[in-house]
Amino acid sequence: MKKVFVLVSMALSLVGWSGDYSSTLDFAKNEAVRLMGKANVDCTVSVSDSPYSLTIIVDSKKESPVKPSISSVNHDGYAISVAHSGYVVSSRTEKGVLNGLYSLAEKLGFAFVMPGEKGEVIPAKLENLEVGQWTENPRFAYRGIFSSSKWVISSCREWYHFLAKLRFNSLCAHVAGTKVPEEEFARILGFRLEVGGHGMSDCLPRARYESEPELFRMFQPEDFGGKRLKDSNFCPSNPKTRKIVKENFKKKISPAVENGYHAVHAWADDLPAGGWCMCSRCRALTATDQSQYTMNLEAQAIREMGAKLRVPAIAYHDTMFPSWTIAPDPLCFLLFAPRERCYAHALNDSSCALNTHYLKALNEWVERYKGIDNSHTFEYYNDKLLYRGHTPYLPSVLIGDADTYEKAGIEAWMSLQVGGELLAPDWNMLAHSVLAWERDHTRETITRRLASMLTDQEGDWETWYRYLDTRASAYQSAFSVCDVPSKFYFDYRFMPERPSGNGGAALIEAQRLGRDILVNAFNILEINSSSMKGTSSYIANLELKRCRFEKVDLAAMVEHQRGLVNIADYWNGAGDEALKSAIKYLEKAIVLIEEANKLCHLHNPDKKSSQYYFSFAKNWSVPEIKNKIRVYSQEFSENKGANDILLKSKDAAEEGTKCCKKK
Ligand SMILES: [Zn+2]
Ligand SMILES: [Zn+2]
Repeated sequence: MKKVFVLVSMALSLVGWSGDYSSTLDFAKNEAVRLMGKANVDCTVSVSDSPYSLTIIVDSKKESPVKPSISSVNHDGYAISVAHSGYVVSSRTEKGVLNGLYSLAEKLGFAFVMPGEKGEVIPAKLENLEVGQWTENPRFAYRGIFSSSKWVISSCREWYHFLAKLRFNSLCAHVAGTKVPEEEFARILGFRLEVGGHGMSDCLPRARYESEPELFRMFQPEDFGGKRLKDSNFCPSNPKTRKIVKENFKKKISPAVENGYHAVHAWADDLPAGGWCMCSRCRALTATDQSQYTMNLEAQAIREMGAKLRVPAIAYHDTMFPSWTIAPDPLCFLLFAPRERCYAHALNDSSCALNTHYLKALNEWVERYKGIDNSHTFEYYNDKLLYRGHTPYLPSVLIGDADTYEKAGIEAWMSLQVGGELLAPDWNMLAHSVLAWERDHTRETITRRLASMLTDQEGDWETWYRYLDTRASAYQSAFSVCDVPSKFYFDYRFMPERPSGNGGAALIEAQRLGRDILVNAFNILEINSSSMKGTSSYIANLELKRCRFEKVDLAAMVEHQRGLVNIADYWNGAGDEALKSAIKYLEKAIVLIEEANKLCHLHNPDKKSSQYYFSFAKNWSVPEIKNKIRVYSQEFSENKGANDILLKSKDAAEEGTKCCKKK
């Protein structure tokens, strides 16, 4: 059999992205040649229009493959046909062809585990696919990632390329001003682009506070002192405030309008302790009422500009439930950001009390935004800030969430990735990319899929499956916060003071068990990694380095929680022994956080990437715990002093009694 290897474009580079591409289809063609080249398969690759198609011929002597029917293809889905001579991918869109190419590549034995070529698994021999044709459609029209250039990946292009391999099609440059970095390349990869994050309060310059405090928010109602503050948001019912905000918002978004982005995010300051106005005109409005009122103002500004742009109304912290006083402008869309939910359980898991609260919030928003399209999630599956530097694997959460969000009519299932670049695979991101297309997965089937990405040799599969499944159990236990009330500010970084009898002991036990299970997971991988080869061995090394850090930090979390539970018990009358224990546990927690910090640095030896844990340990956790140790140690010694005096006077009194009795 004569095989011909043809370079199809002058701009082509086998490295993949150093060339210039005229279109997404052109990029798909180059990718097909690059991947087949890496697998040493001689082939010819061609592309055509109507419908958009990519054809890979591996054996020109056999009958050419036919273009598959795209009659049942939706969104950026695709149809694939397989013949003895090669493969054809067809779609209604160029992006659909690129998605189809990556899906076909996976079926042929390739896998995309991490950004960059080192994160690609290349099959020694292509899988033999059955002759025939099939269609694959996404469950969510838009799927993707919010990521911040502050944390992103040494190479932005490499990062976008990886997200495209995962068949994501939506990208938001989170808190990146009004410009998406490497925008042209992102467009070539077929991404719908969004930009921004917080930033509405910038539209009222804080310098105006000195001369016009009435533009700003009132911290407490007038009958409670009525002081105005410039710290966050503003007074939305003041017509002059609205005029200034609207004009400045127009200036702010004009680059995004020119660039043709889909949406600009400019959220209000929605803060755990509240940050809106309590003046006599505003005090009857909730945080969400005031937030929705100003989001509508942004929508009006867009309409006045004649721009094609959408703005999200965010469900987050104090705006977790929708406004029933202010109706949403149809240019707004729902952005559901349930940050304080339980990440051990899916939103639709009725056994989790905390998530029942967030599911209720979702359903209310969906009801309120009925008839308004474009709803997004702002999920936290990849947020290393929330997860205190960890990269947990949460398959059951993703499976249940996909069902919940699909049923709720969410169009863009998106998640935040911040806290440092990937130093080992983000298994949640890989699961998200599969579940955004495929229904009816179980924890077992999705974990099997991920494990099968790393099977350079027989036997590795079982290790990866056992490791991932055990890792999933570890985080399902360690991140259980089902009974923590939704009323107060809490996340995995800042554990709560809970009395042992009121959920505190259960929190400690769940974290301790999670930590023990993660140690088991680590051992499974470590024992078996020495016999691994190729990409599997490379990834196992990265995974072990990360897990070494994570298991020490989970131990720190346990000691921290033990300290906090003892403090709460002390508050509830458990006495000085509880306070003494609390201080001892908090001291242990600091030692472990410092050890975990060292391991996190080892995990990131070239210092290219700033990992959130460095900042978490230095700026947040250690100072917070030290502060508690200082304050409670002082309280303990004062109590002890007072007790000693009490004891002495008691002894003296007893002496006196003896003395009298003698008489
Ligand atoms: Zn006001
Ligand atoms: Zn839960």
